[in-house]
Order: sequence, then structure tokens, then C-alpha cells
Amino acid sequence: MALKIPARAELPSPPSLQRKLGLLHDELDACKACPTMIGPVVHGPPVVSRIFLLGQAPGPREGGFGRPFAWTAGRTLFRWFQQATGATEDEFRERIYMAAVARCFPGKARGGGDRRPSPEEIARCKPFIAREVEICQPSLILPIGTLAIEQVLGHKGPLVDVVGQLRRVTWHGVEADVIALPHPSGASTWHQTDPGKTLLAAAMERVAAHPAIREAFPRP
Ligand code: SF4
Repeated sequence: MALKIPARAELPSPPSLQRKLGLLHDELDACKACPTMIGPVVHGPPVVSRIFLLGQAPGPREGGFGRPFAWTAGRTLFRWFQQATGATEDEFRERIYMAAVARCFPGKARGGGDRRPSPEEIARCKPFIAREVEICQPSLILPIGTLAIEQVLGHKGPLVDVVGQLRRVTWHGVEADVIALPHPSGASTWHQTDPGKTLLAAAMERVAAHPAIREAFPRP
């Protein structure tokens, strides 16, 4: 059962938090810590949100657009959200903070598809995520795909074990609800056939019913 969203009273004001996020983005933009990653760094706007999305890493197109989930996987992700909550892509981008396990394009894997970031790359990017979580104090975390789910829930098993459920974790010092989602990439068919299709529908129902989502996207 999702908890009520705690007040932000003890935190600095949203403009000051937004400034902090902006400064952190400046640091991200200048980061060249991973020699085999392909720039530019990709991040969304400094949206101070209690909903924290964690993707895997940008694909080859996102750098050119300068925003995460800018290509086909994003179209699928935003369709899931629009169908479940009524929120458009613009509303989503304005009201949900979008982070990722790695912020640069890892390049292609030998067998096709995007390369999974290495443990060293994940470790180098993690301090940025920790600071973003500290600033946003999310009440709902949405890890997208197996790598992000592993980072948030520590779950390395099959998606069927976690998708469709509401979990509660303490992550980077913040206690929050977690609703895991499959990766919307066209390379994955998991969410298109059962049991993935049914579990995705259950997960999106949980997303739509969560107090943080209802507060961010009020509907009559
Ligand atoms: S993946 Fe993260 S740590 Fe590595 S260069 Fe990009 S921003 Fe820096």
C-alpha cells in the first residue's frame, strides 16, 4: 500500500532546489569520466519532482535531441503513461524527474542493441544519482528496465518477479515507493506478450493510482 506523500516542509524551497539541480546538470554536462562512453551527456530539465524515473542510458539519438527518451522507446513509454494517467509527453517531461543509470551513450553491443554500461561506468555515474535523489526526495521511484530495477531494488532475477508490484525501499537515504517497469525498447518483446503484457498493465494501474502521480497529474 502506497504511503501518503510526506510534506516537503523541512526541505529548501523549490526554486533553491531547482537551482541545485541546475548546478548538478552543469557538472554532468562537463563530465568526461568514462573513456569509452560517447557524449554528449543527456539529462532532462531541472524538474523538482517527487516522482523519480530511472532509465538505463541514452540511445544513439538522444544526444542529438538533448533529452532522454527522445526516440522510439520514449514514444512507447509516453504512450503507456498517457493511456494510464492521461498525461501527455510534455506534461510528463514537465512534472517527472528523469535520471538514468548512465548519462552517456554506451555505444552498440557486439550482438546488436545498445551496450549495457559496465560496473565501473555505473559506479562513476552513481554519485550524480545519489545527489539528485537527495535534492528531489522522491516519494515514488520508477525504474525502467532490468539494469535500473537492479540498481533500485537489488533484483537481478526475471522481470515477472517485480513488475506489477509496489515495493518500498530506502534508496540513497530516501524511503520511497517503487513501481518497476519493463524497458519500452523495440528490441524487447517482453511487454508485448503474456505474462509481461498483463504485468505491465497491472504496473501502470498502480502508477495511475499512486498519490504522487495523482498530485502531479490531477484529473477531474
Ligand atoms: S556515463 Fe556518467 S560518469 Fe560516465 S562520462 Fe557520462 S556522465 Fe560521466
